[in-house]
Amino acid sequence: MNMINKVFSAEQLDNKDPLALKVEAFSLPDDTIYLDGNSLGPLPKSAEARASEVVKQQWGQDLITSWNKHQWISLPQLVGDKIGNLIGAKNGQVICCDSISINLFKVLSAALKMRPERKVIATTRDNFPTDIYMVQGLLELLGDEYSVRYIDESNIGAQLSDDIAVLMLTQVNFRTGLKLDMQSITALAHDRNILTLWDLAHSAGAFPVCLDDCDVDFAVGCTYKYLNGGPGAPAFIYVAGRHQSQYKQPLSGWMGHSAPFSFSPDYAPDSTVKQNLCGTPGVIGMSILDAALDVFEGVSLKAIDEKSKKLQAFFIAEAKRAGVLDYFSLVSPPIDVRGSQLALAHDEAYAICQAWIAEGVIADFRAPNILRIGFAPLYLSFTNLEKAVQTLSDIMVEKRYENATFQQRQSVT
Ligand SMILES: *Cc1c(COP(=O)(O)O)cnc(C)c1O
Repeated sequence: MNMINKVFSAEQLDNKDPLALKVEAFSLPDDTIYLDGNSLGPLPKSAEARASEVVKQQWGQDLITSWNKHQWISLPQLVGDKIGNLIGAKNGQVICCDSISINLFKVLSAALKMRPERKVIATTRDNFPTDIYMVQGLLELLGDEYSVRYIDESNIGAQLSDDIAVLMLTQVNFRTGLKLDMQSITALAHDRNILTLWDLAHSAGAFPVCLDDCDVDFAVGCTYKYLNGGPGAPAFIYVAGRHQSQYKQPLSGWMGHSAPFSFSPDYAPDSTVKQNLCGTPGVIGMSILDAALDVFEGVSLKAIDEKSKKLQAFFIAEAKRAGVLDYFSLVSPPIDVRGSQLALAHDEAYAICQAWIAEGVIADFRAPNILRIGFAPLYLSFTNLEKAVQTLSDIMVEKRYENATFQQRQSVT
């Protein structure tokens, strides 16, 4: 075995971790090491309390008066601005609504309208499937004049041309963790008058994002990953202030009307980011998200990012020391161009992941052969990682993944 001496022990690293106490803000099960917060963040205690308050008191006792009394009607903007704080967006540019998929439809439609002479949407072939599917569905609606162009994640600038209306990119690749340079790519797109749409699914809450400073045009993201908003929590849309007066999205529901309670038969769009609202918001889910976001109070995203990098370096060092990396190929890019996750490739990745879960270490599998490990610094400790690596080492040495129960595929992987 390759014996690399540890510089600091896991305990020493935990002792000097400024975020160590944040784990107290979460309701995590005992004996579980959670390496999947990049897919579904765990339950914040603040969210648990709010769930009960919004159901029992606000809905149960205050009934319909809560739309005003508890500001239900303003939640999409209030929560939107809270998310804005975490992604470098000044107030009034982010609204909380729907899912990423639906929000992509709205933003892509609006962006194409702002570049009527251009008929191409550019995106990467390796993008998250729903992002690509939504483009394909929109193209079906628009007809043959429009098309999608798949570009490579490397050297994006060289693949941009003047027929592209919108460049839709996910900042962090969901499989490999490759992180694109938002600032330089946005600038290159703008050189050709191309609008940019960034998907922040694996960015928001994981590291500092600077939408305003990068001059981004549009962004979308979900809140159930690093933002811990809960399963199916509502997503968000960012529309840069400078575009809001020209922005026109086609899902013209009453909540995006400039005066929904005038009940006029004619649609008149709201002139702000609020135009992205369509139907009645899911108040319970959005309230839970609102409370969940409070765990970020007093924490800098820079500190989160720094701890993530330390956690990842520690994991890799431990995995090398324990011989685990002799079994896998590490397919993630280097740390300076990587999000808060690692991808380990192995033909038996699915069964290995199941065997790991059986030992209380939850990670996930991404087809075809990736064991994906998420690093969420608000509740993960170095001691957790040391244990997780030891367990993975035992699984590999004993080939426990060959057990038939771990080979059985479930519907969600
Ligand atoms: C998780 C994720 C989604 C999910 O989309 P929903 O519509 O919220 O289900 C979309 N895009 C990317 C890049 C993701 O990682």
